[in-house]
Amino acid sequence: MSGQVYKNRRNDRSVKALMSVGLIILLLCVAICVTMIISVTTTYRADIIDEFQTRNEIEASVFSRFLMEEGRAAKNAAALLSQYPIDQSRIVDAENYGRGYNEYSHIGFIDTNGEVFLDGRAYSGGPQEYLFSYFETITYGRDMLHICTAPAAVKQMTVCDVVAVSPVFYGSSIQGYVFVPINADTLLSLDVFSEHEKSADIYLVDKEGYILAGNNQMYLDQSVVSLPGRRFRIQDLVLKIGKARDISMRVRSITRGLSDGVSGYLMVETEEGYIMQVSYAPIADADRLYFVSCYNSDLVEERMKPLLFRSTLACLLVSILMIASTIYVWETSRRANMTAERLAYNDPVTGGYNVNYFNEFAEHVMHNNKELPFVINRFDISNFRYINEAYGHTRADALLSSCIEQFGVCFGEKELCVRMDADQFLALMVNDAGLDGRMEAYRAAVNADARGQGIKYPIRFKSGIYKVRKHERDIAVMIDHANAARKMLKGDKKNNSKVYSEEIIAGMHRVDQIESQMQRALADGEFKVYLQPKWDIINDRVAGAEALVRWIKPDGKIIPPDEFIPLFENNGFIEKLDFYMLEEVCRYTNGLVKQGKMAYPVSVNQSRVLLHNPDYLDNVVDILKKYKIEGNMVELEITETVFEEDEDYVKDVLKKLKESGVTLNMDDFGSGYSSLNMLKEAPFDIVKLDREFFSKSVDDEKSRLILTKIVEMIHVIGMGVICEGVETKEQVEFLKGLGVKIVQGFYYSKPIPCEEFRSKYCE
Ligand code: C2E
Ligand code: CA
Ligand code: CA
Repeated sequence: MSGQVYKNRRNDRSVKALMSVGLIILLLCVAICVTMIISVTTTYRADIIDEFQTRNEIEASVFSRFLMEEGRAAKNAAALLSQYPIDQSRIVDAENYGRGYNEYSHIGFIDTNGEVFLDGRAYSGGPQEYLFSYFETITYGRDMLHICTAPAAVKQMTVCDVVAVSPVFYGSSIQGYVFVPINADTLLSLDVFSEHEKSADIYLVDKEGYILAGNNQMYLDQSVVSLPGRRFRIQDLVLKIGKARDISMRVRSITRGLSDGVSGYLMVETEEGYIMQVSYAPIADADRLYFVSCYNSDLVEERMKPLLFRSTLACLLVSILMIASTIYVWETSRRANMTAERLAYNDPVTGGYNVNYFNEFAEHVMHNNKELPFVINRFDISNFRYINEAYGHTRADALLSSCIEQFGVCFGEKELCVRMDADQFLALMVNDAGLDGRMEAYRAAVNADARGQGIKYPIRFKSGIYKVRKHERDIAVMIDHANAARKMLKGDKKNNSKVYSEEIIAGMHRVDQIESQMQRALADGEFKVYLQPKWDIINDRVAGAEALVRWIKPDGKIIPPDEFIPLFENNGFIEKLDFYMLEEVCRYTNGLVKQGKMAYPVSVNQSRVLLHNPDYLDNVVDILKKYKIEGNMVELEITETVFEEDEDYVKDVLKKLKESGVTLNMDDFGSGYSSLNMLKEAPFDIVKLDREFFSKSVDDEKSRLILTKIVEMIHVIGMGVICEGVETKEQVEFLKGLGVKIVQGFYYSKPIPCEEFRSKYCE
């Protein structure tokens, strides 16, 4: 199959571009989604961290309130004792009084001698000795209430972590201190903290981070904190559970925070892989005591899950939507592309490709097969117009389709034929040894198809061939060359193909030149009438003449009509020239008559295009009238080929010419598709036998017989005969024998200028 080697890639390219754009948009979308998710989760996480931090601070203030509550017992007892000088019974009263505020509280008293009373017991000597000076130091001797870490001496007397201290004055001198030991564990296990404990481990720590009390059921290893003496710091805890390498560095931030008395937090990743948020906050009104909550960030993740799920789902949806819309756009544009391609590359009449496709195909194939010789064939169907009119458009179109289809069958994959328009085709063919064979098979196949369609007319192609030179690439130029060669075949009945050559360029150049000069030449009278005598061979004298045009250039160079008549027939200028010749001949004859000279009938050649001019008849009649041409003094020569087109119309015109009294000669009889039927039907007076026809006949018995019969027949139907191109005496004798009376030819005279004709024959 021809034309298979090339597949148009424009579509692929645009689809690829579209896909990449789609992919980029998709990636962008995903990137935006991911960034969104990250930013949302980060913000959310920060919010949660803040929230935990705030919660810890709230818990710290709640804890502070409880401490203050305990502390109030100390303050009230101190106030009671401050009214009188101190004595044993008053201390017991104060104890009871103070306990009235908080039934669980123990209330102790230490006097200036360092004697301690607690829970009905008196302690003296031992570590309690220093307690007075310790309280003095921490309260500066004036604080009304001071809450701080319980000193070891107090811890020896009762289970506690924290102590509330209040000085007892009498007048301006200090009598001792009331102290309330507080068990922080008891406070931490109060109901108010239970809710908080669900999400965090809570600790009470001192300014160095030592854990004084803690509720560590939830997330921390019990054993870690339940160490003997509880000399365990919150920093140690972090170090123990934390995983990060820089954990010791980060732990220092807690140490710093605690010693600065500020709140803060630290995120710690544990060995188990969860994140711990350690928040610390100073407890108001207590001396460097801190409330610490260790939140497991799994909780954060837990709370983030729905959000993450929603965001991821949204992203997924957006991505799916993007993919779907990309696929949709791709599919739509693929279809649009296909349609556009069909419109851009296909020929709707034949279903084959068009010139656009041809150009790309030829370029591609030539580029990839540099070693192969290619030809461009620019061809059309001869007389396609006739086929169209005679057999109708449907069958004519089927013929065009067949031309494309059969090319596909007969030629190879590196060869392609497309229709340009009307019956104009363009083919790329490989110029190898088999080309003639393929061409022949192609012609036969198209003809077989045409016959199948009922078209009896033989299908002939008129081909202009251009042989592509090596390394030549400009397809448009190649097509132009092939077309130039094809145009040279116009009017050429014998040849069906012409190969482009330099001569063609020269020929085209000549055509250009002639066309650029013809109008002026006609106006300047460069076209001259020559007359060739018609000879009466019976009486051996002139009987008439044929007017033949000669183009005489200002430099005297004579251009014969063969060089410009076919061209004028193509470009239409022949109409002007023929009327000009007719008028010149009429003027000449009129001149002779006026001068009383001998005038002979002169025949003027009429091109077939003339007959199709609607004004033709009127123009002829006008000219004849203008020069008062009598009867048959001017005759018209019409070539038999006029009947090839629109027979009825031509017959009608001829009939009207005849009716207006003009003598009609049928020119060149026997040179084309002569039909005796035509002779009978068309109103000719004289038949001019073509010289081609009869030159052979003289020395061939059979042809001589045919000629004899034809002359006989023409005579029988009442027409005159003139034999053209008579060059020898033998021919004259032979024709005389046939009963031919008038001949024309070089034997008697070549065409000569009018003046010469006049002086020779008319004087
Ligand atoms: P045609 O009408 O068949 O004219 C006869 C041609 O045969 C003339 O050629 C003439 O010179 C040539 N001829 C005459 N006797 C002989 C002979 O014995 N031997 C040979 N070999 N040739 C002979 P010409 O003048 O070159 O004209 C060629 C053709 O040009 C004419 O063929 C005619 O078809 C066309 N033509 C000439 N003048 C006109 C014109 O004014 N109008 C039109 N439409 N066609 C013209
Ligand atoms: Ca003629
Ligand atoms: Ca002739």
